[in-house]
Amino acid sequence: MDKIIINRTIFGIRCTDCGGNLVITKKRMLLSHCIRLVSFGLIKPEQYECENCKKKYLLI
Ligand SMILES: [Zn+2]
Repeated sequence: MDKIIINRTIFGIRCTDCGGNLVITKKRMLLSHCIRLVSFGLIKPEQYECENCKKKYLLI
């Protein structure tokens, strides 16, 4: 399992491990789907992935 970091910063975010760029990913994560369901669609998490180390981030 990839380690998932939940971060509220929206812009200027960088990977906390390697400092690489985070790129938005359209791949659906189960966690993001759950958050959307629990919040009745009010929260739409955005998923990012580090270009370098492929670490996953979830911004809500
Ligand atoms: Zn990284």
